[in-house]
Amino acid sequence: MSIARGFPESLELARRLRSTALQIFSASPRMWAGPGRKVDSAEASEFRLRREELGLAPLVIHANYLINLAAPDDRTRALSVAGFRGELERAAALGADFLVVHPGSRRESPIEAAIDRIASSMEQAARGLDLGSLLILVEITAGQGSAVGSRIEELREILKACAPLPMGVCLDTAHLFAAGYPIQTQEGLDRTMEAIGREIGMDRVRVVHVNDSKAAFGSRVDRHEHLGLGQIGLEAMGRVVNHPALAGRAFILETPIDRPGDDWRNVRALWRLAGVQWKRPAGAPATQSDGFPARRRVARAVQSQTR
Ligand SMILES: [Zn+2]
Repeated sequence: MSIARGFPESLELARRLRSTALQIFSASPRMWAGPGRKVDSAEASEFRLRREELGLAPLVIHANYLINLAAPDDRTRALSVAGFRGELERAAALGADFLVVHPGSRRESPIEAAIDRIASSMEQAARGLDLGSLLILVEITAGQGSAVGSRIEELREILKACAPLPMGVCLDTAHLFAAGYPIQTQEGLDRTMEAIGREIGMDRVRVVHVNDSKAAFGSRVDRHEHLGLGQIGLEAMGRVVNHPALAGRAFILETPIDRPGDDWRNVRALWRLAGVQWKRPAGAPATQSDGFPARRRVARAVQSQTR
């Protein structure tokens, strides 16, 4: 949900979509927040109060994309530690349940050294802070470039190295698929869940980002697509949402908004996969078709035939 009109307004956006959980940024996601950028305390109390009234839980905050806790160079790393400290402070002030962060990029350095840097950056960022009940979730990545965290084993090592901190894992269907985990089939999904349970422990998985993928299986490219219009497909998405190993997790959409209404169309698709009927919110723009535009479906069909 957008915070462009303030934190409390993001709750109203979620309410209008009849969401029961939400994810926000706590500052601009692609710019460095000023040093020590805090949440106004009156706004934070208003936000907490309204969230309780609406019963919106869990609250997930996604960290800034510039943060690279694995950075080999001192300057990026110092900026990242300061940036992540700000994320932790704002997340705690807003009463968030989870702060999702990408592990970072190792550049030319070996993976073991990168994981050590992630752990010490995290420890430095969190030093002396009261995090309350906040959990830091490292997100599985597509493995683009030198991104750390596209293997379940890498996430396991990060959790191990960060053991003193309250840590967990965030999955992302588009990232798993692009990283080469075959979640598009029943058997592949079962095997992937087994591996996560074995290596990390299913109880550490708290949030699932539900995105279809524009990018091909195993491509290591991170491109999100509307539910059912990507390479994973609606049927496979349904199996993820209803997988017994993921029961009770927060399912969050990070799908694009290409035209007005794409947000509620994806929310509705997600509820339908979970077997819950969902109606278009009052005041939402009506469209001729009830779903995504037909031309997109056709374009996809043509594409898959020519592949
Ligand atoms: Zn994600």
